[in-house]
Amino acid sequence: MHNKTIAEISRDLASGEYSSTELTTDLLNRVKQLDGDINSFITVTDKQALAQAKAADERRAAGNADTWTGVPIAHKDIFCTNGVLTTCGSKMLSNFEAPYDATVVSKFNDAGAVSLGKLNMDEFAMGSSNESSFFGPVANPWDKERVPGGSSGGSAAAVAARLVPGATATDTGGSIRQPAALCGVTGLKPTYGRISRWGMIAYASSLDQAGTITRTAEDAALMMNVMAGFDPKDSTSVDREVPDYTSSLDNSIEGMTIGLPTEYFRDDLSADMQQQVRNAIAEYEKMGAKVKEISLPNTHLAIPAYYVIAPSECSANLSRMDGVRFGYRCEDPKDVEDLYCRSRGEGFGNEVKRRIMIGSYALSAGFYDAYYKKAQQVRRLIRNDFTNAFNDVDVIMGPVTPTPAFKRGEKTSDPVEMYLEDIFTIALNLAGLPGMSVPCGQVNNLPVGLQLIGNFFDEGRLLNAAHKFQQATDWHLKTPADI
Ligand code: GLN
Repeated sequence: MHNKTIAEISRDLASGEYSSTELTTDLLNRVKQLDGDINSFITVTDKQALAQAKAADERRAAGNADTWTGVPIAHKDIFCTNGVLTTCGSKMLSNFEAPYDATVVSKFNDAGAVSLGKLNMDEFAMGSSNESSFFGPVANPWDKERVPGGSSGGSAAAVAARLVPGATATDTGGSIRQPAALCGVTGLKPTYGRISRWGMIAYASSLDQAGTITRTAEDAALMMNVMAGFDPKDSTSVDREVPDYTSSLDNSIEGMTIGLPTEYFRDDLSADMQQQVRNAIAEYEKMGAKVKEISLPNTHLAIPAYYVIAPSECSANLSRMDGVRFGYRCEDPKDVEDLYCRSRGEGFGNEVKRRIMIGSYALSAGFYDAYYKKAQQVRRLIRNDFTNAFNDVDVIMGPVTPTPAFKRGEKTSDPVEMYLEDIFTIALNLAGLPGMSVPCGQVNNLPVGLQLIGNFFDEGRLLNAAHKFQQATDWHLKTPADI
């Protein structure tokens, strides 16, 4: 049962192959058996999951079932869940039970899905390796000495290990696509504004976007059908019709123009990595796509601009964690200043502190124009690069990451080296565009991802392109050896 996709589960539940209770019990047992080594879950909500499964089975027996009735998923621990621990991977929120559900969470509840629990992540979604979680690192199911990527490493590892068929995730600079690539699963980061951010703990508000981690593009489409749409509670959510994302999955690729940015196939990207991506492009050519070289000339400015904008926004967003209103509070504070200083000093980890300091500096009087404003201007140039490119092409393709999964500890001593992990993913967040990571090969027995970048609100086309690739190849079906 655990090898089934969301689409297959939905069909099996409908035909009575097994019940949601049987499936949920099976998956919860797998979590017990396998997650000790992987550490992808922070909280397993087994009682709640079994109650949801029972309710789903009853609805089905009464003839009221729908696509999602009784289908199990799990949520990245950045989404608030009513009455359930919501930690964001931090000591600061290690005792925080959210008083309400995030919009994304209530949409899945309303659709009848079963939530198995909350998934591990880098602290406050800052990181590319899932080593910064207060709840310990997550292991990559393909090689447990290696990282699963981050910050949605728990989501990617849980799906790769077949603990759950699909998971919610978030992407501020690559946190869906990069872990999906390193774990050999499918990740979709939609257009900024497509999915509500309400109840999703903010890291960098102008960049954060919720999305999906699944095994197949078809499953991503099914999750998008639940998640996408306007939410009056999120002022940046966009009021635009939501298509049925499954309806365009099988469209022909014939005549699709794929742009290959010269800047994404640089000499320092290893020949092995390039080869996997080029093989995937060749597969598209076989399906009738045309390929065109393009240039995104401001690509080299994406990381520097991001590491001004994201820390600036995070320093403002995280100021609410003050030891007063919620979360961790230090023991025996002397006075209010001591309360703030020690609660924050003890509650945040090193990477979060580093970013709060960078952001506070960049936003301070006299420096704001030189840093934050300048970075926003660079951001516009990056967006213009993409807008120009989309005059000539339908989809842009390239690698997701510079290398396959690296060893735990390999990049922790050098933050800049870690930041370069997102060199191919960050520009998209600055522009607000949708992107996907699709398994497209292996290097040294480790998965490699192909990145698909679409125009604004063109998720349907990305899902279509990814689905057609998955019909023609079997990289997305490969399973880690001891899973
Ligand atoms: N790795 C990037 C960072 O550390 C992106 C994280 C994310 O997308 N949440 O900020």
